[in-house]
Amino acid sequence: MNSGNLKKRAESNESNDYLHSNVKDFSPIKLKPSIKGYLWGGTRLITEYNKETSLEKAAESWELSAHPDGESIVSEGVFKGLTLREYIERNGVSCLGSKCGVKKDFPILIKLIDAKENLSVQVHPDDEYALREKNEYGKTEMWYVIDCEPGAYIYFGLNKKVTKKELMQGINRERLTDLLNKVYVKKGDVFFIFPGTIHAIGSGILICEIQQNSNITYRVYDYGRKDSNGNARELHIKNALDVINLERTEINFENTEKALVSCKYFTAQKLDFCKTVNLNCDIKSFRSIIVLNGKGNLAVNGKSVDFKKGDSIFVPAQNGSINITGDGEGILTYI
Ligand code: ZN
Repeated sequence: MNSGNLKKRAESNESNDYLHSNVKDFSPIKLKPSIKGYLWGGTRLITEYNKETSLEKAAESWELSAHPDGESIVSEGVFKGLTLREYIERNGVSCLGSKCGVKKDFPILIKLIDAKENLSVQVHPDDEYALREKNEYGKTEMWYVIDCEPGAYIYFGLNKKVTKKELMQGINRERLTDLLNKVYVKKGDVFFIFPGTIHAIGSGILICEIQQNSNITYRVYDYGRKDSNGNARELHIKNALDVINLERTEINFENTEKALVSCKYFTAQKLDFCKTVNLNCDIKSFRSIIVLNGKGNLAVNGKSVDFKKGDSIFVPAQNGSINITGDGEGILTYI
């Protein structure tokens, strides 16, 4: 965040007595993402998903994030301008729900990813390794393919059992992808990536990624690419070899209308707003809704927010019945 924004926030906070009181407010909020302009990104998040940025490219938008590397900001209402972490401090952990209070940090991170070019081949650690090495969570992630170009593919795990030596030979000879499952994707596909599974998002794919709140990636192979200064990006081979699962990977993927994934870290579900949708927001967890298409209105406890394509809505826990009307689709996530 730039200093101008900080100043603006301080000023608006000063003029807002609400923020100095201890009163909590569990109204639904809309969040503005942190945008990442990584080199492999495209412009679709800006042109089609209404993301505001001064960057030329928007590779990722961190739509629900309390991660210090890129926090979401409350975009309207009494908490406007607060980061998600500040909002949680203000409202107390009960706004996250009883399943979240015991965790070290905010549990998940939701991103939109526009891969115009290939992402590097990479792997993420599990909780045990990540907490030991970096005092951060490991990374289990789920991909929902929002859109893709014809012929687009991902790399998903190993196509046979290998030794560390064979893996290193693959990397050194720039033949690593020969050892990987190449999976052609289509709109609506869902992939669940366990820690230790070597993977890469290929070019021409737009994804909604739901993951643990972690930013630990070990880059294994970058297709021999160099930047405009002739420099290759850093690889993290030692850490990667520590965590890569060397067994053949069973490809898990679904192309489904509704259920996406339920794991010990989160549950994700597809929402269709063509008709009125009623959801329950219990005391166990908040609800996150990412709007993939269309527009509508979300009402809860007499408070409501309008939404459109690309919006991220956070409904604090224990709100009871959520009523969504409109026309479109989205992804619901809770813990
Ligand atoms: Zn990943």
